[in-house]
Amino acid sequence: MSKREAIRKSVRFEVFKRDNFTCQYCGAKAPDAILHIDHINPVSKGGDNEIINLLTACVACNAGKSDRLLTDTASLDKQRAQLEELNERREQLEMMLAWRDSLAGLNEELVDETAARIEQFIPGNTVNEAGKSNVRKWLKKYSFEEIMCAAEIADEKLPPSPDQEDIQSFFFSIPKICAVKRLPEAAQRLRYARGILRNRIYVNEKQVMKLMQDAVAAGLDVEELIDYAKEVRNWTEFRAEMEAVANG
Ligand SMILES: [Zn+2]
Repeated sequence: MSKREAIRKSVRFEVFKRDNFTCQYCGAKAPDAILHIDHINPVSKGGDNEIINLLTACVACNAGKSDRLLTDTASLDKQRAQLEELNERREQLEMMLAWRDSLAGLNEELVDETAARIEQFIPGNTVNEAGKSNVRKWLKKYSFEEIMCAAEIADEKLPPSPDQEDIQSFFFSIPKICAVKRLPEAAQRLRYARGILRNRIYVNEKQVMKLMQDAVAAGLDVEELIDYAKEVRNWTEFRAEMEAVANG
């Protein structure tokens, strides 16, 4: 006969809850019946105090059952269902963790891929870890396509033999271009700036929008541009300023 250990209160509670405080043999319920915890596989036959081996039983059923091994299939089904539920929960948790890991992995792959594509615009240069950390931030705001599109626009400003400063400016203009492209009101603000210019100075209608767009794409703040449009003295000065900004 193996030593009988007391069933912990928390375990008893879990078993009662699982069994809806109902005797699993006769269906008697608390508080009408006094409920005990019954070992499915008796302690005398090696049964332990694991929840899976425990069952809610009323005093009468528990007393009558004594040490006889339970063959009731309903109880076995309950055990099986409980195991299956536990397994299901564990599997779902594992799936969730795997999913989260794969998303994180996918994101890092995308960061590497984006960095690699940017490197193609600046042969001989690499996007270092600090650069990749920037790319990671951009990807939180903009899509890969938007960043690539911005890189192509930024590339137009890159001189044939760019120095480190050119490369820095190319790199950091990428998120600025993304931002400008995103802003639906940017075009409207540019038309507003054009209106101010038209009222104040001679404006070359063929060039004005393109000049402003290029300057904004290169990082000029639209509101700053509007302020400038309010004070610039003539078209030549305006065009020169826009070109200077656009060309870094
Ligand atoms: Zn009973």
